[in-house]
Amino acid sequence: MIPGKGIYNSLPVWAQTVAVNFASRRNFRDKYGADFQRFLAQLEANERKSRDQLQAEQREALHGLLRYAVTHVPFYREQKLPPDDFAAWPVLDKQTVAASSGRFLSEEFDSRQLMKINTSGTTGTPLTVWFPKEYHQMEMAFRWRHKAWAGCPYLSSGAYISGHPVVPPNQKRPPFWRVDRIEKRLLCSSYHLTPDNLPCYIDALTDFAPDFVHGYPSSVYLLAKQMADDGITAVRPRAVFTASETLLDFQRAAIERAFGTKAFNWYGTTEFTNNIIECAQGSLHQRPDYGVLELLGDGTMIATGLNNRAMPFIRYKVGDRATRSDDTCACGCAFPLIERIEGRVEDYVRTPDGRLIGRLDHIFKDVQHIREAQIVQTKLDELVLRIVRTDGFTAKDEQIILKEAHLRLGDSMRIRFEFTDVIERTAGGKFRFIVSQLPREQLEFSRP
Ligand SMILES: [Zn+2]
Repeated sequence: MIPGKGIYNSLPVWAQTVAVNFASRRNFRDKYGADFQRFLAQLEANERKSRDQLQAEQREALHGLLRYAVTHVPFYREQKLPPDDFAAWPVLDKQTVAASSGRFLSEEFDSRQLMKINTSGTTGTPLTVWFPKEYHQMEMAFRWRHKAWAGCPYLSSGAYISGHPVVPPNQKRPPFWRVDRIEKRLLCSSYHLTPDNLPCYIDALTDFAPDFVHGYPSSVYLLAKQMADDGITAVRPRAVFTASETLLDFQRAAIERAFGTKAFNWYGTTEFTNNIIECAQGSLHQRPDYGVLELLGDGTMIATGLNNRAMPFIRYKVGDRATRSDDTCACGCAFPLIERIEGRVEDYVRTPDGRLIGRLDHIFKDVQHIREAQIVQTKLDELVLRIVRTDGFTAKDEQIILKEAHLRLGDSMRIRFEFTDVIERTAGGKFRFIVSQLPREQLEFSRP
């Protein structure tokens, strides 16, 4: 029984909690198995190395990856790319990988043994990323090392307010969360954050008293704003972590004030190419043991993940932009610094019942025949889904999208499709996943 799927949603709350804990126990071994502690110690040691040493080790790791790719990965092998000349490798975009993703899989792995994650990301192009179980443990080690930077070591308790589908979408009354005792997590739904429901979320956070709060900045912000409005200061985690969306300045200010602690920004990509993390000094560090990051003239990030050999992404255009800084950080870690990350600002969709919903790219992730998608909110109760189809798109895909959209937005939102050959960029060349045409006063709730 998998949370969010099958008959899970029809079970009573206590049985859903059993299912959540059962799934967590099963996943625990995959996440924190034989290799996890070794990775954790290795990553911690890297954080104390000098910049020269880090660069030398990164060069060696990169060279190893390039040799591996031209030997075992059909896409790179067919192009006869030179393993000693990284700059000669082509820049890849998501469409190229999505169009022939099988050719990016290493022949050394049996895909039945691999884990996978479906993504549509900020561009709306669906893609499946494959990785070995061992890499899954390394990814967990990277995440817990960042938590440790904020005083929350492995297995600290956390309240998560991100895309966990643990609460049925049509549930109208609390609890809008489930407790995972195995991993000490309060898994909160990010889809039920209506103005009416916010106070009971805050009660749940107060009772659970997590070591940290982790979530989409747009979701954590809604809670912070409610806490400020109600004068509540009872929720005191050691740190707040935000991920998956740009942490906007007004969101950070409201979050830090309401929770009485620092917000730590985490930036990653589902393709496992790039990891940028905020330290206690407020600097953004790029982990050189995670990936190689190149920045083009306009700041466009080209990233190469060093650790997932099952599906290597080499010189991959992430779609976001960043500015590098040559400073050193007072925290003592020599990982390179990033001045700023731009390009993941996602607007909200506002529903007629007053909810503000971000991170809607999820509604496209199980559909294979889409090149790009954009959500345009034309009226308070109307959305237009602009879609660039690829061959094979059928009415079935439309049904999947509509079902996913209504699950998150409710039935009062009218949704229509608009098929197009191209989705226009902004004057600055930027893709906007959500475009809101609502008058300013209807959006004000999400502004400071
Ligand atoms: Zn630092």
